[in-house]
Amino acid sequence: MLANESEAAVHTTVAIIGAGPTGLLLAGDLARAGVPVTLFERRSGTSNLTRAFGVHARTLELLDARGLADGLVAGGARVERLRLFDRIRLDLTRLPSRYPFLLITPQYRVEDALTRRAVEAGVRIERDARLTGLRQDGERVTLEFGERTVTADYVVGTDGVHSTVREALGLPFPGKAVLTSIMLADVRLSDPPEDVLAVNAVGDAFAMVAPFGDGWYRIFSWDRRHQVSDDVPVTLDELREVTRRVHGTDFGITEARWLSRFHSDERQAPRYRVGRVFLAGDAAHVHSPAGGQGMNTGLQDAANLSWKLAATILGWAPAGLLDTYETERHPVGRLVLRSSGALIRMAMIRSAVARGLRNAAGSVLLALPPVVRRATGTISGVGIDYPGAPRAADVALRGGGRLYEALREGRHVLITPQPLSGYGRHLIVAAPAADTDEAVLVRPDGYVAWRGPVSSAATALTGFLGPEQISHPATR
Ligand SMILES: Cc1cc2nc3c(=O)[nH]c(=O)nc-3n(C[C@H](O)[C@H](O)[C@H](O)COP(=O)(O)OP(=O)(O)OC[C@H]3O[C@@H](n4cnc5c(N)ncnc54)[C@H](O)[C@@H]3O)c2cc1C
Repeated sequence: MLANESEAAVHTTVAIIGAGPTGLLLAGDLARAGVPVTLFERRSGTSNLTRAFGVHARTLELLDARGLADGLVAGGARVERLRLFDRIRLDLTRLPSRYPFLLITPQYRVEDALTRRAVEAGVRIERDARLTGLRQDGERVTLEFGERTVTADYVVGTDGVHSTVREALGLPFPGKAVLTSIMLADVRLSDPPEDVLAVNAVGDAFAMVAPFGDGWYRIFSWDRRHQVSDDVPVTLDELREVTRRVHGTDFGITEARWLSRFHSDERQAPRYRVGRVFLAGDAAHVHSPAGGQGMNTGLQDAANLSWKLAATILGWAPAGLLDTYETERHPVGRLVLRSSGALIRMAMIRSAVARGLRNAAGSVLLALPPVVRRATGTISGVGIDYPGAPRAADVALRGGGRLYEALREGRHVLITPQPLSGYGRHLIVAAPAADTDEAVLVRPDGYVAWRGPVSSAATALTGFLGPEQISHPATR
């Protein structure tokens, strides 16, 4: 039992359904902002089996803005170069980020860190609480957990790919299956690969091998010649044979702690909001595991929604702010579907000639700096901006701190070389370490709301934070 699991909720300001990574991050953010929030989870405990294992640079930045990145990085393995197919190398070390790598760490470690933060912030977590139905009117949402009902001002469905919230809203989940009979194995290897992350594909099969950093390795493999339903057990011999066919060696697979078979779909809900109910994470979009994007995209959804929902509930949101959750995140979901789908289709190319062309073209293109920037920017999330709101790079602040440390308060940060007085409690004002005559307003999720001359900062603030938050805006 978590310390703050308490009497069952009857009414809550925000109800979040599903305590996966998306729901946990969102709940923690809302509670830190002072919004009462209850997280309902159908499971009774946590699991130490992990689905996601890769945390990308942009996600590490958002975890940094919550004081969680360095602890996770210390306990994981860094992958600085990806080897895709035979010869294609993708170098992440030039990413313009404090975290120029892919962090390999199990999903349950990310969830543990987010759970601790949420509980400390005062989130009420109710386990063994399976949502069965939902209805809403203009005033509130009524949630059904079997016989029991709970009301909420707002609801967020972070209840995964088979989302009950999405179904209760009557939203379709259009798309299709892209891959069936994918084998997942967490194994020990007596002769591990030199490359930290090795992926290869030979037409009829592909296999990816990645270390967790604690002696265990994750293998994903797929064999066109052996397509069976998800409930057919995976054997070590089958895994060894496919890995040998793809990589020329099975890396000395000795034992497994988890063997599973699954299929992968590409789907996206047409809307992320219906009235007072939102969707985020796998409930809103799902795609192939290629590129390791699922958990990362869900966490970015949560970071985008949390401050907008808090601002609306606390009464200072500019008109239309909450609608920008869907307008900003739905296109990103579509982009991730496209990019992970392209990777998987390239891996499945059947003809040897086409595979040769893929490898040759990939090697040539990825020698070109703009192509590398684009590819690594998309995979890592560092290159993903919103219209009119580019990603804010971390910068040093006068006095020794950094922007992403200042963002840990969950507020907007105005970086200005001149002091500003009379600002409201939703703003932090900081001075840049470097000389500049420009001011930058950074949103709580690390995107630039506004950039311009210092003399215009007060006017810009009123537009972004609402007039009542800027009681006497004045630059000196
Ligand atoms: C094999 C595999 C490998 C993957 N590898 C990666 C990777 O390397 N990188 C990456 O970023 N992503 C990866 N993913 C995807 C990643 O695991 C998911 O995208 C991520 O878990 C989604 O998080 P979520 O919080 O949105 O949903 P989930 O983690 O699915 O959490 C949903 C929660 O809602 C609960 N729930 C469901 N229904 C109800 C209900 N009716 N009432 C109450 N609670 C409910 C569930 O019990 C669950 O706890 C992988 C996925 C798979 C299958």
